[in-house]
Amino acid sequence: MSTPDEIPFDRSPAGPAGEVTTLSPLVRRVIAPNRGPFTFTGTCSYIVGHGRVAVIDPGPDDEAHVAALVAALAGETVEAILVTHTHRDHSPAARLLREATGAPIIGCATHIPNLDPPSGRLDASHDLDHRPSLVMREGDVFTGDGFTLEAIETPGHASNHLAFALAQENGLFSGDHVMAWSTTIVAPPDGKMSDYMASLDKLRARDDVVYWPGHGGPLSDPQRFVRGLAVHRRQRETSILGRLAAGDTQIPQIVAAIYESLDPRLQGAAALSVLAHLEDMVARGLVNSDRGAATLDAHYTL
Ligand SMILES: [Zn+2]
Repeated sequence: MSTPDEIPFDRSPAGPAGEVTTLSPLVRRVIAPNRGPFTFTGTCSYIVGHGRVAVIDPGPDDEAHVAALVAALAGETVEAILVTHTHRDHSPAARLLREATGAPIIGCATHIPNLDPPSGRLDASHDLDHRPSLVMREGDVFTGDGFTLEAIETPGHASNHLAFALAQENGLFSGDHVMAWSTTIVAPPDGKMSDYMASLDKLRARDDVVYWPGHGGPLSDPQRFVRGLAVHRRQRETSILGRLAAGDTQIPQIVAAIYESLDPRLQGAAALSVLAHLEDMVARGLVNSDRGAATLDAHYTL
């Protein structure tokens, strides 16, 4: 969403939608045709294994994309459909692919809407119809033919977010938690900054050598990148504290001051990102909100 200099972002296009790209001995990718300011060149759907395969994140409710996936899988058997999180650009096609292949949907849990969010917003970005036949928790493993996928709970971008580790290649399907092309959106109430930072720390303790994200190309040298993301969020927190010290009290003032040359389409997301930081800092006792809780329209003071 933003472009801090210290993080080595890679915005090279991840290839045209619908094409099958081989990324490693075990991993193939098909990109969905849902390019946009939040989705970059489109959602990445991954095929893992050969012959008897798993599919990760079938993508948005798009029949053409599912047809492209099914064509890519000709002659193969899908044994499981794994989903990282229930945002509408990741999980709805799981049901179409289940219809086409008979494979079970496993992975992240059903989204539980926050009916009384402090920000007063309903979470419209979630697919509420996602009903997996098996919910994977931390350390749960799907064992395929010649590969394993281990669930790593990584809440923050979404509360039900999972990454999947492919031990045979020391790789991680990082979903929208860590992407090479951009920072991730952490938007309350479902997104939570403290969870996001803890999930970054969790990945830093691992020794994966490559990430395959939910959008954009693979990420090599992920440890350095994840360290950069954590530094960036701490700097953003410092900037927000600086604006409050300078007399700003409301989120729009802070957004205008700390986001330079912001794409107008991302204004709302930037406000939610600042809200996520303020929510965290209110919880830690660093910032006061005149509403008690952190909301988009509250007045904040140190
Ligand atoms: Zn997402």
